[in-house]
Amino acid sequence: MKRTYDIIIVGGGPAGSTAGYLLSRSGFKVLLIDKSTFPRHKLCGGCITHKTIKLLERVFGETVEDLKKNGVINFESGHYKIFCKDKLLVKRDSPVPFYFVERYIYDNFLLRKAQHAGTEVIEGERVVSINMSGNKIRTESGRQCLTRFFIGADGINSIIRRQFPSEEFNQNTWQNDHGTALEAFISHSKIQKTVNHPALYFDFINYGYAWMFPNKDKLIVGLGGLTQKNKKQFLPSFNNFLSTLNIGKLNIDNIKGYAFPYGNFLLKPVFRNIMLVGDAAGFADPLLGEGIYYAQRSAELASQAICETVREDKNLDTMENQITDRYLQLLQKNIFPELIYAKKTRKFIFKYLNKYHYLPLKIILGLLGTKPLEAVHGIRSYKWLRKLP
Ligand SMILES: Cc1cc2nc3c(=O)[nH]c(=O)nc-3n(C[C@H](O)[C@H](O)[C@H](O)COP(=O)(O)OP(=O)(O)OC[C@H]3O[C@@H](n4cnc5c(N)ncnc54)[C@H](O)[C@@H]3O)c2cc1C
Repeated sequence: MKRTYDIIIVGGGPAGSTAGYLLSRSGFKVLLIDKSTFPRHKLCGGCITHKTIKLLERVFGETVEDLKKNGVINFESGHYKIFCKDKLLVKRDSPVPFYFVERYIYDNFLLRKAQHAGTEVIEGERVVSINMSGNKIRTESGRQCLTRFFIGADGINSIIRRQFPSEEFNQNTWQNDHGTALEAFISHSKIQKTVNHPALYFDFINYGYAWMFPNKDKLIVGLGGLTQKNKKQFLPSFNNFLSTLNIGKLNIDNIKGYAFPYGNFLLKPVFRNIMLVGDAAGFADPLLGEGIYYAQRSAELASQAICETVREDKNLDTMENQITDRYLQLLQKNIFPELIYAKKTRKFIFKYLNKYHYLPLKIILGLLGTKPLEAVHGIRSYKWLRKLP
């Protein structure tokens, strides 16, 4: 049986659930389909910044205290360290804390929020095709659903993005800024000293970095960078990083790899009645790879575009151009400037660092104090590090 919806969202990660929650609360008939059954694992460092905390409060009314109480936030740190290989460049207090979540819990929490707000959720069913002219979606079990509008929130390997014609989506440009990351969980006891702060390590990989993030019951160690600049270097570089931490080689089965957007954000993530949000549109910080915030923020903007344009009459059929135009306007104001300047900062840092081995970075970080970190938290802009309202 075919059912008709106002909006079908493909993907129930942070982006899809945020859109589902907001649109259902505004009275739309929303279906969200995910190929996984939740809770599900997603490879991630689970680090969330101040701007995400503000979004969670604004959109879902969830405070840090609530999120800690119900186990969504499992660790918090007010310090950070930055290294070049094993040399400490910076050790500082962060103006606002970093928070850490386990994606298994975080994503499930957000999906259930959307469901309670009225989003119909289908789990464990992969979308295999969409037919835009018929406004139809088909899943692997043969289920078909009709909709007026699609939101593609299906991550880095988005099937919805693949519906875009080649004039609208350039696969080669996309590949140029495609990132690869490796990650492993280790127990606190594997490290001699107590680790209760996030640490970033440069110079283990080209155009990228390695990290160690604390969680309540484990440490997350990872390494990521531009795929095209590090061909076949990811595993040796990761092992090199682990031995610098005195962890030694890990069993290969414990190391997981995944792709992430790393500067390949689409400036036009819309086509006919489709809007892409989150990783599907390449929305992640091109310097640090932070994607949870951009997933949720872009979903908030896509929902705002629908709600503002349609208002009372809910006639999505005749308004697809107005909706997608409004989404682009909102992205241009709220997301693209930061992504563009973060990408410029990345080019400056990695070109320079490669040449002069990080001494300039130490000097720059020393002179700028906590300002670059405030840009990461969304208190300042990457553009000239000016304070944001
Ligand atoms: C190793 C690593 C570490 C990272 N660490 C951090 C970090 O510390 N902090 C941070 O902010 N970001 C981090 N990121 C980035 C972050 O994980 C992503 O940016 C974020 O998950 C994007 O959310 P999303 O909702 O767009 O996509 P996803 O979270 O990828 O969700 C997409 C969903 O779509 C579903 N799906 C896909 N295809 C289909 C289909 N055909 N049919 C139905 N469903 C489908 C998937 O099952 C999935 O649930 C990291 C990424 C990697 C790879």
